[in-house]
Order: sequence, then C-alpha cells, then structure tokens
Amino acid sequence: MAKYETIIGLEIHLQLKTKSKMFCSCSNDADNQLPNSLVCPICLGHPGTLPTVNQEAIKQALMMSLALNLKINKKSKFDRKNYFYPDLPKGYQISQFDEPLAQNGHLVIEANGQTWSIGIERLHLEEDAGKNIHQNGKTLVDFNRGGTPLAEIVTQPDFKSPAEAKEFLIQLRLIARYLGVSDADMEKGHLRCDANISLRPSGDYDFYPKTEIKNLNSFKAVEKALEFEEKRQAKLWDEGQAPKTTSTRGWDEDKGETVLQRTKEGSADYRYFPEPDLPPLIVDQKLLTEINAQLPELPLAKKDRFVKEYGLEGKDAWVLVYQRKWADYYEKIMSDLRAWLFEVKGVGPDTDRATELWESEKAKLSKAAFAWLTSELFGLLGNNFKMEDLKISAENMAELVKLVYEKKINSSAGQRILKEMFAGTDDDPSNIAERLDLAQIDDDSTLDDLAIKVIMTNPSQVEEYKAGKEAVLKFLVGQFMKESKGKANPQKAEEILKNKLK
Ligand code: ZN
Ligand code: MN
Repeated sequence: MAKYETIIGLEIHLQLKTKSKMFCSCSNDADNQLPNSLVCPICLGHPGTLPTVNQEAIKQALMMSLALNLKINKKSKFDRKNYFYPDLPKGYQISQFDEPLAQNGHLVIEANGQTWSIGIERLHLEEDAGKNIHQNGKTLVDFNRGGTPLAEIVTQPDFKSPAEAKEFLIQLRLIARYLGVSDADMEKGHLRCDANISLRPSGDYDFYPKTEIKNLNSFKAVEKALEFEEKRQAKLWDEGQAPKTTSTRGWDEDKGETVLQRTKEGSADYRYFPEPDLPPLIVDQKLLTEINAQLPELPLAKKDRFVKEYGLEGKDAWVLVYQRKWADYYEKIMSDLRAWLFEVKGVGPDTDRATELWESEKAKLSKAAFAWLTSELFGLLGNNFKMEDLKISAENMAELVKLVYEKKINSSAGQRILKEMFAGTDDDPSNIAERLDLAQIDDDSTLDDLAIKVIMTNPSQVEEYKAGKEAVLKFLVGQFMKESKGKANPQKAEEILKNKLK
C-alpha cells in the first residue's frame, strides 16, 4: 500500500463560442484582430453603462451543465468579484458566487478500459479579464478578451492521480467540442486549468492544506505539474514538514517545477456582493427541455454504441469517437456495408434473419472498415489534412472494403486503388480496379499453372524447403505474387505451394 494518498481537484475555465461577449455586443472572435479593437464602453466598464446577459452564453452553459449531469438552478444570480489588476478595467469581474447556474453533477470517464465517476461541484458563468502582455520591460494591456464569456467548472477532489486529472480534461475537451460550445484548445487558452492537490497518509480521512497550481496551459503541463507537486509534498510529509497553509504555485515549464507565488486569499478578500445591474438569472423549463432534446450523443455513449452495434474493440471505437467527423464517416461506411450484406444474402433489413446475419458478420466487416480507414486512409493524410478536403465518399470507401472482403481484389491492390481514389476524383473503386487490371486471379487452373512455374524455375529453393527450411516458403510466395503481377491472393498462393511441395 502506498504511504500517501493523493487528492486532486480541478477548476476549469472554458471559453464559450458565442458570437458576442458576455454582457455587450462586441465580437467574441479575437483571432487575428488588432489589440483593443474589440472593445466598447460596457466591456471597458465606463461609468453609466449597463451590462445585458448574452442568451447564447446561457444556452451553451446549460448544454455543458446537462452533459455533466449537473442540477440546473431555476434561479441563480450574478455577483461582483472585486480585485484590482491592470487587465480588469472595472475593478471587478462579474461572476456567480453563492448561487451558481448549476451544481452537483458528475462525469463518468473511461480510460484503459476502466470506468470511474468524477463529481462536479458546480458550473457558473462569468466574464473573462483582458490580457497583460509583457514586452521589453513594459506591460501592455489588450482588452479584446475582457468580457468574453466563460463557464467555470469546479470538480470535487475526486482524482487520485495526475493521470486521472489529465484524462478528465481530455474527455471534457471532447465533450465541449461535441456540443460545439467551445474550441476548448488549451494552447489557445480556450480551456484553462488550475489544479488543487494535497496528500494525506493512506487510511486517513482528513483533508490537509492544499496547493493550487495556476494557469496550466497544456494537458502535459497539468500532468507534469501535478506529478512534481505530488513528489514535493510527499517529501515534506516524510520530513514531518507537511504544508500547514494553502498556497498558490505556478508551473515553470522550463525548469519542470512548481514555484511558490503566494499564500491563498480567502473568498472574503474578493468582497463578493450581488451585481446590482443585472436581474436574477431565471432558467425557463421550456428552454431547458428544448436544449436537452438538442444534445448530441456524447462521446462515451457513442463509444459504447459503436462497440455494441458494430462489434468494435473499445480502443478502436475511441479512435473514431475522438474525431467526430471520422466517426460519422465510419458510420456511413458501415450502414452501406450493412445494406449491401442484406442485399447479397437476400434478407429483408428488419427481419430476425437480418439481425442474426448482422450479429455473425458485423465484427469482420467493422474491423475491415476500421483498418481501411485508420491504417490505410489515415496513412495517406498529411498532418494538416482537413476532412472537408477528402474526395472519397463513404459510399466508395464501403465499395473498396467490399471488394477486398469478397476477395475480388487482394489487399495490396486495395492499397493501390485507395491511393488513386485519394489523389483523383471520387471514382468508383471497381472502375479503378478494372482500369488498372487489378482484379484478383481466382481461377484455380491459372493459379496451378503459376505454382508449377514457380517450382520449376526455383529448384534450389524448392530443395531447401523440402529439406526443412520452412522460411524459404516466403520467398516462393513472393515469386508467385511476382508472376501473378500482384493479382493473386497471397494466402491462397501459400496454400497451393504448400500442397504442391508436400
Ligand atoms: Zn464590449
Ligand atoms: Mn473564475
């Protein structure tokens, strides 16, 4: 048993993907914009201006809340969080304090075949601050980000290791992308994470003062910073010097260590009070029902369905689920293959016979389709390939899988055809097979002739094989394939040669 138990909780800021900012009509798309070009008297906090709540931000926060199984508060309110900092023009941030939008949820995550549930304490809405840019010993301020909408998500201290915390973030990013509420790109600051960590002796149920690590901006940084902190605190415990106060530390990427920044302010230091310029936030039941109905299938549910419906391995299903567009593409291929299977076997699609047939064939077809997609097609894509640029329809991809599946072509011919499909127009793979003369040789007497020719022209290798050197068979199969101009089925070639050399 480990000497200490690690306790980790996360506070996540997710930048919502609305058109305008949280409380004014300035654009929320700061990419490639000049500094301080997306500002107005409201987000700059000029006296006499009034904020209005962005309804789209509320919708997106509600979607995220539902995906995290949070209980939505029918009535919540906005508060002012007061602090002084150059990037905060009003001198306060509009946030939600004691009555957040949503509370008490959980997210089930799965990694390496294990499933566990992480409690979510709350989700609330707030506005972002601007950005300080430190340059040549000066500090410049860009207010473009000031007032952009954020959903702050606070988890329960339910993570037992840095790896779990990282996995959670990866899944949270995926969910935000599925919902379309954020690009959730950590490197671009759409998803920012503070991590709290403390240790306790194993078997102890108390909580001890924690360290908060601020502004981790990559998944790797989250894991590395927590691992460093786990070791640092274990050493302190070993030396009888366990932390006595809560502190805030930063992550120094270059040194690979956390650095003390300050001991933590309590919430009282922010002098929270209700925002007098905004009415309470009331969530209408009708809106909630509407949003619930619009929620897409979430990643874990999709993965489970892929396993059940197509007989895929869990890890393969995740490969697809992680890239939603490819998951959709894969489903189109599979639906084509299913329709084709029922057609060639002459069974009606909604019959017991169809169910039975699908159950017996689905794993083979889905694995073949998965391999053609992820090993072969993905192998042809460059690093920056956009799926929108793919010229191969799912229908033609299914056709290719079929040709190989029915042994009309062998897999190296399939690879050649795929390259043609990828480079050219969306041509039918059977047309390409015909054009390139790649149809597999299936005729037994032709195959027999080829085998005899290979045996006659390679007497010394045949001799060696007969003397027990089995590895030589590979060479002979190679000769066979060469003679057939790559059009034989290599397994079949091996079989025939073996029989003839018995
Ligand atoms: Zn504005
Ligand atoms: Mn916050």
